Amino acid sequence: MAQHIENTTHTRDGALNSPWQLPTGALVNHQTPTGKIYDCLIIGAGITGLTAAVLLQQQGKQVALADAHNVGFGTTGGTSAHINTFADTTYPEAESAFGEDGAILFADAINDGAGIIKQMVTDFNIDCQHETKTGYLYAETEDEAKQLDDIYNGFMKVGVAASYTENAPTPVAYIKALEIPNQAQFHPIEYLMALKDAFLKAGGHLFENTLIDKLEHEDNIHTALSAEKSISAKKIVYATHLPPGITVFSFKCAPYRSYVLAVTLQDDDYPDALIYDSQEPYHYVRTHQINGQKLLLIGGNEHKTGHDDPEQAFADLEAYTRQYYNVAEIKYRWSSQYYIPADGLPYVGQIPFMADGIYTATGFNGNGMMLGSISGKILAEMALGVESKYDKIFSSSRIKPIDGFTEFMKENADVAYRFVADRFGVEEKQSLQQLQPGTGQVVESNDKKMAVYRDKDGTIHALDPVCTHAGCIVNFNAAECTWDCPCHGGRFAIDGSVLTGPPTKGLEQIL
Ligand SMILES: Cc1cc2nc3c(=O)[nH]c(=O)nc-3n(C[C@H](O)[C@H](O)[C@H](O)COP(=O)(O)OP(=O)(O)OC[C@H]3O[C@@H](n4cnc5c(N)ncnc54)[C@H](O)[C@@H]3O)c2cc1C
Repeated sequence: MAQHIENTTHTRDGALNSPWQLPTGALVNHQTPTGKIYDCLIIGAGITGLTAAVLLQQQGKQVALADAHNVGFGTTGGTSAHINTFADTTYPEAESAFGEDGAILFADAINDGAGIIKQMVTDFNIDCQHETKTGYLYAETEDEAKQLDDIYNGFMKVGVAASYTENAPTPVAYIKALEIPNQAQFHPIEYLMALKDAFLKAGGHLFENTLIDKLEHEDNIHTALSAEKSISAKKIVYATHLPPGITVFSFKCAPYRSYVLAVTLQDDDYPDALIYDSQEPYHYVRTHQINGQKLLLIGGNEHKTGHDDPEQAFADLEAYTRQYYNVAEIKYRWSSQYYIPADGLPYVGQIPFMADGIYTATGFNGNGMMLGSISGKILAEMALGVESKYDKIFSSSRIKPIDGFTEFMKENADVAYRFVADRFGVEEKQSLQQLQPGTGQVVESNDKKMAVYRDKDGTIHALDPVCTHAGCIVNFNAAECTWDCPCHGGRFAIDGSVLTGPPTKGLEQIL
């Protein structure tokens, strides 16, 4: 039986309203039948969680879906809802990290994600203004034009349709532009609300207003606890955008805030297209009609969360908008957060160092409509024990070279340093600061120990220094760049994997 909590406003994770917020009716909170064990509990009711929930429930599984607030409370309620055949990680970047086959798979995943949205719209007859549009990507400088050529070549390699054009519908003076057919846009919350209805109609149980803050495990059953509920399931999916607590993803995904304005125009010159410049950070423009009123959506100016000034970002975005468009009124201004993955592609799968059967999907960059949708499908397949062709490139435990992502590394070197240093006293902090690139040291304070290594790029890596063989503490071997156990000769690589000797299990990676 479902309890309905009186709350008719769709809320999101910020004080500023986005145009997607709807009067949504009461929140739904099912009762948990005593002794019930669901096939899967999905935590997080954004586009990722709801896609997984609907697909699993359609397969006859008994699914519980919990959200700390309401459906669409997270970034899906603050997105700009473009559906593209390309992504923030360009296909040449994907090729440099994952090879040509990897780039083609990435393009397939983006395409499949867009296809899932289209299929859901058709299957459930969803009225969410899902419309096909043409996309335009333009360059204003020679450097940007060169990047645009690379992007075009990448499109041709992975099979994404695009052509050069001199008719990009933008007031900005550009020197080169690409036309990309078959892009789309929609209203993300109307879409989510329809998925919620489909999920409930198929017999799914929804728990809004339910913050899951603890997981317990017994006999392969996971029990998720909130202040008022205990929900047991065979599998758990964290569709929370980034899994909570400290996990490897805390160091593999960097949080960014991005800004959007929705404005009316004096001259009614709203473009009927999706338009992107090539600046760093880039701007994007599209039109959406809400309650009969056309709005120009214009976004960009992102920065790392907690760095830079949000009001300045809005001011810069407004100045940019007024420079190119005849603004009548700023109807909405809002910001939201996304996560940039270390090597450019999302992480989907088992959460490392957690009990088996606990999955997540994260690191969608600004492309979570497609990547959240395809991840929802992959997560549903994982819960069903079905393999996906994307398991390998999106593997949640992959370790990849990240040459093309130096900005990320620079920032995350700082995050990693603070993570380690903040756990130790002043003396240890000083010795960490003095740790030269290419050297390692076991640091200790208040009975806590970590085997810390600073790589040649300055990034800190930390392992549990307790040898998995007999429990001795490893030492750093500067000549071979390894962690060596003084007791029985077990030797471990910088990533913790076993190199030599009696241990059969690697050192646990802390970061
Ligand atoms: C400004 C902006 C514009 C964007 N534009 C686009 C775009 O045009 N196209 C595109 O493809 N992508 C875009 N993105 C990215 C995209 O919006 C996101 O990647 C996507 O919405 C993420 O969806 P999600 O379901 O994974 O997470 P979310 O929508 O964030 O949902 C996570 C949910 O988990 C819940 N939750 C968290 N912790 C718990 C817990 N412990 N217990 C219970 N519930 C919990 C939250 O309440 C939330 O509802 C944009 C992002 C931003 C910031």
